[in-house]
Amino acid sequence: MSVAEPAARVENGRLNPGYVKLDLFCRGLRIDPAVQLADGQQPVRMRSGLGSGLELRLPGADRVHVNAPVLETFAQRSPYVLVPFARGRGSPGLALEHEGRFLTEVLVPPRPRFLDRRTSRGRPMGSIGVIQGTYLGVYFGPTCSNWKAPERDICRFCSVGDNVASGDESTDKTIEDVVETALAARDELGITFVHVNGGFDDRGAYLERYVPLVRALRRRTGLLVGLQIPPLPSASAYEELARTGVENVSLCFELWDEDRFCDVCPGKARRSPLSSFREALGWCVRDGGFDTVNGELIAGLESVESSRAAVDWLVDLGAIPTICVFRPVLGTPLEGQEPPSTEALAPLFAHAWHRTIARGLPVGIAPGIHVSIVLTPEEWRWLVPPAERQRHRLPRLRLAALRAAYRTLHRARRVMPRQYGVG
Ligand code: SF4
Repeated sequence: MSVAEPAARVENGRLNPGYVKLDLFCRGLRIDPAVQLADGQQPVRMRSGLGSGLELRLPGADRVHVNAPVLETFAQRSPYVLVPFARGRGSPGLALEHEGRFLTEVLVPPRPRFLDRRTSRGRPMGSIGVIQGTYLGVYFGPTCSNWKAPERDICRFCSVGDNVASGDESTDKTIEDVVETALAARDELGITFVHVNGGFDDRGAYLERYVPLVRALRRRTGLLVGLQIPPLPSASAYEELARTGVENVSLCFELWDEDRFCDVCPGKARRSPLSSFREALGWCVRDGGFDTVNGELIAGLESVESSRAAVDWLVDLGAIPTICVFRPVLGTPLEGQEPPSTEALAPLFAHAWHRTIARGLPVGIAPGIHVSIVLTPEEWRWLVPPAERQRHRLPRLRLAALRAAYRTLHRARRVMPRQYGVG
C-alpha cells in the first residue's frame, strides 16, 4: 500500500503557507538585528498569552496571518529568521529564511493608526483591543478570578494577569470604549468581526456584563460579534445571549484529559469542571441558535490522541474545534516547557479538516476574517497530505454555497439590523 506523502513546507516548488504557519507556532522566529521594526510593530502580549508574538502576513491569495513567537526561549533556537529583503528597484522589504536559505517574502503589517487614538473617555484604544489578523480582539470584564489572591490558581499557560500588570491591556473599559474602538477599527481597516472574551468572575455577573456589550456592538457597529466566556448555568441563559444577535459563542475547555485539565487549569477545574463545558456546548449547539459554536482546546499540553478525541467529540456534537498550539509564554508557570512539534500536530489538523468538512460544519462562513493566533479550518487543509486535499467534494460545494449565502445575510444585517432580529 502506498503511503500518502505528508504535507511539507514547500510542495512542487511552492510555499505551503499552512505548514509554515504551524511550523512558526512550534519553532518560533528569530529577528535579524538588521531588521528595523517600527515602534508599533513590536510584539504585544494580550489575550491569555497566545498573541505574544510578531504579526506577519505570508504572501499569496490565501492571506495567511501568523502571530509568530519571538520572545520565548524556544524561539531563540528557531530555524526561521526574519531578514531584510530588497525587492525590485531596491525597495525595502522583509523575508523569511529557513536554515539560512530564502523561503518567502513576508509582510509585517504597520501598526493601525486607530490604536494611538483615544476614546471619548480618554482611554488609549491600544489598551482596549488588539488586531489579531483582521479582527479586533477585546478582553472585557475584571481580571479572571483565577488570578486573584490568595489562591491564584491560574491556568498554567495564561498571562492575562501579567498583561494587565504590564500595562499592555486594561481592565478599565466601558461599553462606550469598546464600541468607539470597534468603530475606529472598522472605519480604518474594514474589519468585519469583534471577538470579546472574558475570564471567570466569582460574582457570576456574566449576562449582566456581556448582553449590553454585545447588543451595543451589534446595533452601533454592524460588525459580527463572537463571545468567549466561562460556561453559563443553563440553556435559557444561552437563549438570552442569542437574542442579542451574537453570531459566535466559544467555550475554552483547553484539555480533554480530565487529570491534565485539573493539573494545568486548577482554578478553572474548580470553578467549572470539564462536564460543565460539555453541558454548555450542548446547550449552545441545540438551544442557542448561534450561527456557529466553537470548542477550544490547546494542542501540546496533553497527548495528541486526547486532543483528537476532543476534536471528534466536538464535531459529533456539531461544534467547530478551535485548536490552539501551546505556546510557553515568558512569565507563565509553563515558560520552561517545550512547545509541541509540527510533525506531531500536522496529522491532528489533517484529521480535524477531514472530520469537520465531512460533517458539513459551517467553517469559514463569516466574511473577511483572517486569524493570526490559530490555524483556521480553511488553513487545516494545508496540513492534509496533498493527495487527500480534493476529498469531500460535495460537502465542500455545499459549504461554498453556504458561505455565499451567509455573506449576503451579513450585508443585510448590517443595513437593516432590527429586521434581522439583531439587538
Ligand atoms: S480561565 Fe484560565 S486561561 Fe482564562 S483568563 Fe482565567 S486563568 Fe487565564
